[in-house]
Amino acid sequence: MELLKNVSLAEFTTFKIGGKADYFCVARSVAELQEAFAFARSCSLPLFILGGGSNVLMRDDGFRGLVVKIEIKNSPLEGSTPPVGGGRDVCIVVGAGESWDALVAETVAHGLWGVENLSGIPGTVGAAPIQNIGAYGSEVKEVIEWVEVLDKNTSAVRRFSRDECEFGYRDSIFKKPEGRDYIVTSVAFRLRKNGAPNLSYKDLAEYFAEKPDPSLVDIRRAVLEIRGRKFPDLKTHGTAGSFFKNPIISQEKFDELKKKYPEFVGYQQPTTNNQPPTIKVSLAWILDKICGLNGYKIDKVALWKNQPIVLVSQDGAGAKEISAFADDIARIVKEKTGIEIEREVQNIC
Ligand SMILES: Cc1cc2nc3c(=O)[nH]c(=O)nc-3n(C[C@H](O)[C@H](O)[C@H](O)COP(=O)(O)OP(=O)(O)OC[C@H]3O[C@@H](n4cnc5c(N)ncnc54)[C@H](O)[C@@H]3O)c2cc1C
Repeated sequence: MELLKNVSLAEFTTFKIGGKADYFCVARSVAELQEAFAFARSCSLPLFILGGGSNVLMRDDGFRGLVVKIEIKNSPLEGSTPPVGGGRDVCIVVGAGESWDALVAETVAHGLWGVENLSGIPGTVGAAPIQNIGAYGSEVKEVIEWVEVLDKNTSAVRRFSRDECEFGYRDSIFKKPEGRDYIVTSVAFRLRKNGAPNLSYKDLAEYFAEKPDPSLVDIRRAVLEIRGRKFPDLKTHGTAGSFFKNPIISQEKFDELKKKYPEFVGYQQPTTNNQPPTIKVSLAWILDKICGLNGYKIDKVALWKNQPIVLVSQDGAGAKEISAFADDIARIVKEKTGIEIEREVQNIC
């Protein structure tokens, strides 16, 4: 493991924002990750784990500690020929540092169903369970069998079953205080050889209205095309995708807004332990139709014109400006709707 000093973090994030880390290293194996933990412990340094940097907002003045970039590779599909093993399902174990979208491309090439709707999401395999990535009517929790982690304090290995991961909407145990010390090293996915298309999401249903039985390749192509229209090009814009989560609100709040805005739509959420019903609503719709914020811009920060839930930085905006802009958006939403919105992007303090 090569330990570097004073490394600029901006080039490792899709926002292209971030000052220097005092210490930086790349972990290409579990042993290197353990070495990094031992170094941080011996110098009492705070530790930050970085994957592809596509869901983080790093501080302008950098990080006073050790940043470890996870590049633990292992992709059992790469270079192998289909079919993989016998049976109806296939279980594959993938290294945390593999590219998420490269994995999706491989599964599609091998005729394996389960993650095709999650095509085009930037980042690494190890970060996918952290916020239970989701898109186009699908969430990664549906195909996760287990997640293997290292405890950063003890370096002990532990395996979390899907249930133990406590997956929720853009949430898992790894985002909660009791799970924050665990660093993902590999993930096991259960994929299907004979799956069926999931066209529950409106955009995909419309795309395939004339072709009701698309293949895996068709679905991946469609998702990439739709995403290409909605998201900015990472080569030209700094962004971390959706900056906020879609709000989950009470039935009463939903009814109140629906009365005022009859086109407002919501999706009933599963209830547990006799909890009152909750409804997930589209923040992009609220920002556009209720707050009139589509294309809203202050100096170098803007809401993306094709998808207002996406914040973009232009001409070198810093983390401070992004954060102030996001606070402004949250304030406007609260004023107009009474809803408190929550950030999806991880702020590094
Ligand atoms: C253009 C664009 C579109 C996007 N679209 C979507 C979308 O449709 N759906 C969606 O869910 N997300 C989306 N995202 C967000 C992002 O791609 C995902 O959250 C992704 O999983 C982040 O992966 P990463 O490797 O870049 O993680 P990073 O940004 O590097 O890290 C994110 C968080 O996970 C932690 N982390 C990273 N790796 C590990 C590990 N191995 N173990 C423990 N903790 C770890 C980090 O410490 C940090 O807190 C989008 C982002 C962009 C830029």
